[in-house]
Amino acid sequence: MAIGRLLIANRGEIAVRIIRAARELGIRTVQAHSTADADSLAVRMADEAVEIGPPQAAKSYLNIDALLAAARKSGADAVHPGYGFLAENANFADAVTAAGLIFVGPSGDAIRIMGDKAAARAAAEAAGVPVVPGSDGRIDDPERARIVARAIGFPVMIKAAAGGGGRGIRIAHDQGEFDTLMPQASAEAKAAFGDGGLYIEKVIEKARHIEVQILGDGNSAIHCFERECSLQRRRQKLWEEAPSVVLPQAVREKLCASAVALAESVKYRGAGTLEYLYDDESQKFYFIEMNTRIQVEHPVTEMITGLDLVREMIRVAAGEPLRISQDDVRMNGHAIEVRINAEDPAKNFMPAPGTIASLRIPGGPGTRFDTLLYQGYQVPPFYDSLLGKLIVWDEMRGAALDRMVRALGELEIGGIKTTKPLHQVLAADPEVRAARFHTRWLEPWLEQNAEKMFA
Ligand code: ADP
Ligand code: ADP
Ligand code: MG
Repeated sequence: MAIGRLLIANRGEIAVRIIRAARELGIRTVQAHSTADADSLAVRMADEAVEIGPPQAAKSYLNIDALLAAARKSGADAVHPGYGFLAENANFADAVTAAGLIFVGPSGDAIRIMGDKAAARAAAEAAGVPVVPGSDGRIDDPERARIVARAIGFPVMIKAAAGGGGRGIRIAHDQGEFDTLMPQASAEAKAAFGDGGLYIEKVIEKARHIEVQILGDGNSAIHCFERECSLQRRRQKLWEEAPSVVLPQAVREKLCASAVALAESVKYRGAGTLEYLYDDESQKFYFIEMNTRIQVEHPVTEMITGLDLVREMIRVAAGEPLRISQDDVRMNGHAIEVRINAEDPAKNFMPAPGTIASLRIPGGPGTRFDTLLYQGYQVPPFYDSLLGKLIVWDEMRGAALDRMVRALGELEIGGIKTTKPLHQVLAADPEVRAARFHTRWLEPWLEQNAEKMFA
């Protein structure tokens, strides 16, 4: 293994997850952390820790110079970016490589192509992968934008080329709305992502969000089947499954093959996800974007394939060829993940940081809880609200749902509000049990079921 000491340039549950994979590979771990995270579980678990700056992410987890200094100081030979923060920042990948270190992810150039959502659409089209009808690349000229929007037909989606995390997306229902939203969207994208570039897509109504996990070593790529993440609020995933139970086998094969073709077309190295919208009725899928990193919901894929995706991404980053062939990847059973966030679902998902007074973690067969929590931990108010992910597996989806209900019943997080009550109501809902949902199903459901969330 060409990696002996790995700097973790991230925090929270994904830092813990990376430490676990590294330790099994015999790699020493160095946890980079802000002053607000000095007491975090990742810092406690890692072999070493290096402080990188104050609580504000801009001065710590997004501070490339501070992270490179931490790598130098600790003698790390590789950097894992996790998800969020700098994980899809091509300049960071290049800076890590220029410093003589291994970046656990794709090359800066691959991130530049696939991390820019307008450029990724073009790469998909070039690889023969269907995309949502929309603009050819970025659209800067307002007059051309109007012509394209009219040609696509309203409603249209205005999306930030650099967007992510469900942000930077607007829907215009008519020309008037479009004219108002375009300049707003551009200004917001500039402020949020440092890049005001926009593109336009047709709104696919009642679509499902289906994504394909891939692994590449720079030469070849394989897929690890799909996940369905249609239960979303504000375009953020709350509940994820693998596989998607609505996908016919023939469509699955085409979808997964398209993802492999696209990944290979950019000589992708690492773990990545190609996201698609899927229309049940026409059985058509449309590529929307690629996430050039490990994803929050990767464990459901691990549960149905038996693979350790974080271990594999570290191995290929170290220059090893993929040691599994496509035929080795087998799908077994069904897995569901729910995101446990420090938010109050009864109060419009208001953030609810605080101190963990008590904690009971679920266990038993087919049950996994990836978390940053320990009893007495103070959840800091500065970062993403994700506390942990409860993942269950069983042979059939129905049994997995029963297991989720059982595991949620065991989970106790005392002292703060969490999204657990939401998932309890969802797991019992007849439409959810029948998998009759799409990406815009959850929001109206939340309006109607708000009172049930007072746990
Ligand atoms: P996943 O598909 O893994 O769920 P998300 O798009 O939800 O990925 O993003 C994962 C994490 O990264 C979340 O914490 C999200 O808030 C954050 N994130 C993703 N992209 C961006 C971005 N461009 N800017 C800021 N945060 C982002
Ligand atoms: P992000 O980078 O923020 O994850 P995505 O392009 O992946 O942005 O879109 C996030 C979500 O927004 C999708 O999962 C889907 O629910 C919705 N969405 C995106 N594009 C479309 C579209 N063209 N039509 C309908 N819904 C869309
Ligand atoms: Mg996305």
